Amino acid sequence: MEEELKQLKTENEILKRKNAAKFDLISISSHQLRTSLSALKWTIKMFLDKDLGKISKEQEIFLSKSYENLEKMNNLVNDTLTLNNTENAKELFKKKQTNIVELIKDTMFEFFGEAKKKNISLKIGEVDKKIPEIKCNEKMIRVVLQNLIGNALKYNNPKGEITISIKNIDNGIEIFVKDDGIGIGKEERDNIFQRFYRTESAKKKEPVGSGLGLYTVKKIIEDHKGMISFKSEKNKGTTFFVILPLT
Ligand code: ADP
Repeated sequence: MEEELKQLKTENEILKRKNAAKFDLISISSHQLRTSLSALKWTIKMFLDKDLGKISKEQEIFLSKSYENLEKMNNLVNDTLTLNNTENAKELFKKKQTNIVELIKDTMFEFFGEAKKKNISLKIGEVDKKIPEIKCNEKMIRVVLQNLIGNALKYNNPKGEITISIKNIDNGIEIFVKDDGIGIGKEERDNIFQRFYRTESAKKKEPVGSGLGLYTVKKIIEDHKGMISFKSEKNKGTTFFVILPLT
């Protein structure tokens, strides 16, 4: 009897761990998928709005259909994210030496279409000389950057500015993602990294949102033994600070 109970306990633990890994996997891949879909959507929107030159009637019909389909996919991904919120979990990530400056530039590239469309400038600010390589999981740090840049764009105003800077610090680097958008009120600050939390002004500005982005970001940063914080002023802007250790 005691043996059986022990066996059941072990099996239960294994199932719990599997479930936890599944949660993280779905959460992270859905976020990535959503960001890529959004980049595609904005590109098509630029064609549809004739920002990139004239298009024929036939081209417009095909592009409109693609746009609608992307919207549907986006909704599906959002629902998947919501459904996936069952349990907290821990995932093991493989890490390797990574050129963070290149990774940042490459991730920024995904957002230039959206930034142009929204008339927001997205640029690299100060970058210290000789930023060292960081031992990290490239895919996961890309998710972090996608979320921070994506939010800076989402919660910004036309003619806004987003600047990304990188500094050397003791045993690591610090990344700054600065925007001059809607900001986060004092009373809302404590909740910003909570699952599903969205500020009232964010909901007004951008009704579609899961409130899972920063939660995922924090988990990834913590898995890398790093730190994330922010400072913000309502209607003035927000800066997120990410510290990543060298190894
Ligand atoms: P989502 O963007 O899907 O709502 P996130 O988890 O990425 O979810 O962000 C949680 C909340 O934090 C947002 O809803 C918003 O209220 C706030 N937030 C995040 N980034 C910014 C930013 N750059 N400027 C203002 N508010 C932000």
